[in-house]
Amino acid sequence: MSSRNADFIARDLAHVWHPCTQMKDHEDLPPIPIRRGAGAWLEDFDGRRYLDAVSSWWVNLFGHAHPRINAAVRDQLESLEQVILAGFTHEPVIALSEELCALAPAGLTRCFYADNGSSAVEVALKMSFHYWRNTGRGGKHRFITLANSYHGETLGALAVGNVALYKEIYRPLLMDVITVPSPDAYPREPGVTPAEHARRQFVHLEAALERHAAETCAVIVEPLVQCAAGMRMYDPLYLQLLRDACDRHGVHLIADEIAVGFGRTGTLFACEQAGIAPDLLCLSKGLTAGYLPLSTVLATEAIYQAFYDDYAKLSAFLHSHSFTGNPLACAAARAGLALFRDEDVLARNRGLAARLGERAAPLAAHPHVAEVRQRGMILAVELVRDRATREPYPFAERRGRTIYRHALGRGVLLRPIGEVVYFMPPYVVTPEEIDLMVAVATEAIERATCA
Ligand SMILES: *Cc1c(COP(=O)(O)O)cnc(C)c1O
Repeated sequence: MSSRNADFIARDLAHVWHPCTQMKDHEDLPPIPIRRGAGAWLEDFDGRRYLDAVSSWWVNLFGHAHPRINAAVRDQLESLEQVILAGFTHEPVIALSEELCALAPAGLTRCFYADNGSSAVEVALKMSFHYWRNTGRGGKHRFITLANSYHGETLGALAVGNVALYKEIYRPLLMDVITVPSPDAYPREPGVTPAEHARRQFVHLEAALERHAAETCAVIVEPLVQCAAGMRMYDPLYLQLLRDACDRHGVHLIADEIAVGFGRTGTLFACEQAGIAPDLLCLSKGLTAGYLPLSTVLATEAIYQAFYDDYAKLSAFLHSHSFTGNPLACAAARAGLALFRDEDVLARNRGLAARLGERAAPLAAHPHVAEVRQRGMILAVELVRDRATREPYPFAERRGRTIYRHALGRGVLLRPIGEVVYFMPPYVVTPEEIDLMVAVATEAIERATCA
């Protein structure tokens, strides 16, 4: 049977090498050519529609082809598409920086731009290291990271991450980091609250700081949810303890809110739930409402000032990317922030998150579900072979892929991480669409766990 999808698939498979993909998998499940998007829906060239329950890889905030964001990008396109940001500047980047500094946790006064999340992490790592150099503490050259963490795929970001599937093969290329156990509440003992578990797990971080503070630049964490590890969640108390310990030991705190920023966890930034401010804050993904590649690192005034001196002192941060602070991307970002301001998005999300929680709650009783967990607009269902022992399914059975395939057939884009089925929908999703995506996921889970 010939279809427009089929034509695009054939051309795609002849030349496109897809990200994070074993290309052989496309022999029986080809990539889906998307023709257009509208709201929470994607449509392929054969007219099939898919509810985007994963926000197109966690980037989209307000749905596809949003009229206000489209208009902002179109407007910007008419006047300036790109200009060098060294020696030059432009209104979108100036205004966006003002807005971000006003919205971010207190004390973050400077925005340094890059064009993707991994690059923002590289910037934060280099900036922290270089800060200590510039302030006479050159012995600091290491980073502390949490088990299960994910910070991107470039070599520096990969080194401070801890997802074995992505990291192990490249280990000989990576800098050596100090890894401590995660505060992830999933493996806590029965009867132990997430907060108590966080407190117990923090002992390991405190010990690492006691031992290594003199050689450590920063601790880097994903606040509240370790997304790529399977939406593993932890109590905000951990961030409070961490902020305090970093201050006591003279070590920076880098918050990677690339995935959790811009309302995913219920607050604009996840750090707000702990009442803390990091020294460096990495943002990307939802920064442009998922429209265009852009990232930024917000820094404290103290960090900024440590680089500010006569040129000949060679203390400047000489880092750059070609598309740093691209005006189109900044215009999209400003339009996204305007929507947060004008439509009380976070309040509406509280209602949507409650609906999501209610609809998914029955799954907690499923014989192959170990946990249903939620933080704001992120909800995850952890599937296991044995509910009593929490023994996972053998990874090679690829039950998550069965779920992915089944849900696509029913018009919902889910993309389980291993055997963790999660929802991270765009904020324009309706209560009925939430019901649909949970119903389809439930059906897919049933099918994938029955044999
Ligand atoms: C996606 C992600 C990154 C990397 O961002 P890219 O734009 O994909 O390079 C870094 N940190 C976290 C927490 C992420 O989720």
